Amino acid sequence: MQPEDLKFDYEHIWHPYSSMQAPSPVFPVVSAEGVRLRLNDGRELIDGMASWWSAIHGYNHPVLNQAAKAQIDKMAHVMFGGLTHPPAIALAQKLVALTPTALQTVFFSDSGSVSVEVAIKMALQYWHARGKSEKHRLISLRRGYHGDTFAAMSVCDPVTGMHQLFQRNLHAQIFLPEPKTPFGEALWPEDREALENLLAAHHQEAAALILEPIVQGAGGMRFYSASYLGYARQLCDQYDILLIADEIATGFGRTGKLFACEHADITPDILCLGKALTGGYMTLAATLTTQSIAQTLSSGEAGCFMHGPTFMGNPLACAVACASLDLLLQSDWQARIAQLQQGLERGLAPARAYTGVADVRCLGAIGVIELKQAVNLPQLQPKFVEAGVWVRPFGKLVYVMPPYIISDEDLSQLCQTICQVVHDWA
Ligand SMILES: *Cc1c(COP(=O)(O)O)cnc(C)c1O
Repeated sequence: MQPEDLKFDYEHIWHPYSSMQAPSPVFPVVSAEGVRLRLNDGRELIDGMASWWSAIHGYNHPVLNQAAKAQIDKMAHVMFGGLTHPPAIALAQKLVALTPTALQTVFFSDSGSVSVEVAIKMALQYWHARGKSEKHRLISLRRGYHGDTFAAMSVCDPVTGMHQLFQRNLHAQIFLPEPKTPFGEALWPEDREALENLLAAHHQEAAALILEPIVQGAGGMRFYSASYLGYARQLCDQYDILLIADEIATGFGRTGKLFACEHADITPDILCLGKALTGGYMTLAATLTTQSIAQTLSSGEAGCFMHGPTFMGNPLACAVACASLDLLLQSDWQARIAQLQQGLERGLAPARAYTGVADVRCLGAIGVIELKQAVNLPQLQPKFVEAGVWVRPFGKLVYVMPPYIISDEDLSQLCQTICQVVHDWA
C-alpha cells in the first residue's frame, strides 16, 4: 500500500460514520490472523473488537477458510427465487434447532439492519392479515440500537439515532425509557410501571415491541435485568403485542448464553440474527419467526411476504456460517465465555479507581469502561494503536468484545494496555 492509496482513501472513501470534511485517521491493515491485525508498516495489534462482535473465532481461521474454498468451487452465488441449495438448507436447519423451539421459519438477508426491516415488515403484515392494521406502530427502548436503514433507525434511540435530522422521513414510534434495573437484580418498580403504563396505553396501535435482550449495545453498552425481559414478554402476551428480539450483537454466546433471551428463558415472536453468524467472514443475517405468524401473514392480502433481496441466502455466506456454528458448538464455549468474563473483570478492575472513570462492567465476553467525559476519538485512537491494541471507543465508552479464542496472555495484555491508555487519558 502506497501513501497515495491512503490519500485516495482520505479523499474518496466513506468509512462508518465518517466525515468527508474532517475524516479521522484510518489505519491500513493488510492481513489478520487469530487475534492479531497486521498493519501495513508491520505492526501487529491485539484485536479487542472482533470486528464489531462478529469475528468470534478470530481471523484467518483454517476451518472457515476451508468452508469458503469448498463452497466457492461449487458456486459462489445463485438466486434464491425459485431455487434452493444445500448451504441455505443446512444453515436454516441449524438455526431452527439452536433457537427456541417455537421459532421455525427462517428469512435470510444481507445485513443486520435489513433483518430488522424484515422483522418489522413481518409484524406489520401479520396484523394486517389479522384485520388489525391499526396495530402499525413499534414500541422501542431508549438507548436502543437496531441499525441504520430507515425503519431500523425509527426504533433507535431518538437522540443518538438523530431522529430530529430525519424527522420528516421517520415513522413516529413509541419509546419506553431505557431499562434501569441492572443485570442480576429483580425488576425495579420504576421499570415495571413504565412497561405496564406504556403497553396499556398503546396496545391498540402497537404491532410489536422491539428490544435488544439484556445488552443494549451501540446505544450505550448497558446491561439490564433478565426480569425486565421476562416482564416485557408477559405484557406482550397480555396485550397482544409481538416481541421482536434483536440478537444481532448478543447472539452466539457473547453474553454467556447462546442467545441472550435465554437469561430470561423467554421465546420472542421474531428473532434477528447477524454479526457473528458467519464468524465475521462476510455479511449475512437471518430473521426467524413462528409457524403461526408465518402462516398468518402469508394468508393476508398480499398472499406472500413482501421481501426478497438479490443476494438472499448467499451460498458462500451460508456455508461459512454453518462451519462457524459447528466450530462454536464443538467447543466448550460456555466455559470459554465464563473464563473470558473473569479475565475481563480482573483485567479492567484497576480502571475503577481512575478519576475519569464512571463505571467498569463486564458480562460474558464483553468488557466496558464508561468514562465521565466523551472521548476525543481522533486523538485517543492512535494512542491505542501505538500501544499495540485495536480498540474503538465511542462517546464515553471504551469497550471490548474480543474473539473467543483470545489467549489468557493476550487478554491480560489487552486489558493492561487499555487501562494504561485510559489512565493517561482520563
Ligand atoms: C450491528 C447491529 C445492527 C445492524 O446490523 P448491520 O449488519 O450493521 O446492518 C442491528 N442491531 C443490533 C443490535 C446491532 O448490534
